[in-house]
Amino acid sequence: MSPDAPGLARYAQHEADTRGRRYAEPPPRHRTEYQRDRDRIVHSTAFRRLVYKTQVFVNHEGDLYRTRLTHSLEVAQIARSVARALGLNEPLSEAICLAHDLGHTPFGHAGQDALNECMREFGGFEHNLQSLRVVDELEERYADFPGLNLTFETREGVLKHCSAANARRLGELGERFLERRQPSLEAQLANLADAIAYNNHDLDDGLRAGLLTLDELREVAIFRRQYDLVAARYPGLGLRRLVHEVVRRMIDYLVNDLVDASTAALAAAAPASVADVRARSQPLLTFSAQVEAEQLELKKHLHRHLYRHYRVLRMTTKARRVVHSLFTVLLDDVELMPTEHQEAALRMEADDGRPGRARAVADYIAGMTDRYAILEHQRLFDPSERT
Ligand code: MG
Repeated sequence: MSPDAPGLARYAQHEADTRGRRYAEPPPRHRTEYQRDRDRIVHSTAFRRLVYKTQVFVNHEGDLYRTRLTHSLEVAQIARSVARALGLNEPLSEAICLAHDLGHTPFGHAGQDALNECMREFGGFEHNLQSLRVVDELEERYADFPGLNLTFETREGVLKHCSAANARRLGELGERFLERRQPSLEAQLANLADAIAYNNHDLDDGLRAGLLTLDELREVAIFRRQYDLVAARYPGLGLRRLVHEVVRRMIDYLVNDLVDASTAALAAAAPASVADVRARSQPLLTFSAQVEAEQLELKKHLHRHLYRHYRVLRMTTKARRVVHSLFTVLLDDVELMPTEHQEAALRMEADDGRPGRARAVADYIAGMTDRYAILEHQRLFDPSERT
């Protein structure tokens, strides 16, 4: 008998069809394999560090802003609702969502871009690939294997983009990028839930920070529609409640659209199994064309008014400088890193030469929280700082 929940659609990922774990283990007694993946992710060190990693605002800028941890929880929550509505494997989509940002550097995208520049001649740095590296190699929690030894399906979902060069190195997991095939619907869902979550919470955080204004946001259709409804129905509502009510309705609107448009796409394509889903060249989960366009409009607005706001840019250039200088000085002298990282650098250099050494430095920096990176920078560059 399948341990999967009843109501699982035939195109969902069924546990009986798993491609398994890299190191064979006895099946869990009271959980499904995907619930076990989820639980391992929640217990990991990298997961706890997400609380001190940035989305848009650097961690010390305020206590109310989203961090990667709250972001990951919001993504998982959205994905779980949609998974249930579509008959998908809920624990699998939850596990993917909770793990999707584990490889993120400190300082959000600024940190990732900076580390990628630093690693250019050593194979680059992709945060998706780093998330996979965290769950496959870097977590040290189990006596029998490195990493968390997650199922293929969770790992497949974590690796949402990948360059062709990296895909070739990754074997089974990289094949779909080379053959232009799709991952499971649960993995497709994690991607879309990610976009719903960050567009809405960045909007909310941007308003709270005073970088976005209601007047400007009302030029954006998806916001304006919900705003006008709420303002008409609740005249005189306080600003905070108004914003939260609008954001709540936007998320609801997007989730409903995703469920409806995907239900229609699934009915039209009628995949008989997850193998049919994987064989396709295009994803099956989707928003309607109208909502897709509306989300793009919102994204552009956030880009112009929030991500490129001078106050955000000041912080991101500072972050970039911190990552660049940490990388340069540590690559030059790996003995400045804490012992276990130093040892990893020497071991990886022995195996793989200078790219191995650089990868160990990138692992160390990528694992830092925002505040740890700032502190480490002070310890290395400020002569008055204690080391
Ligand atoms: Mg994300």
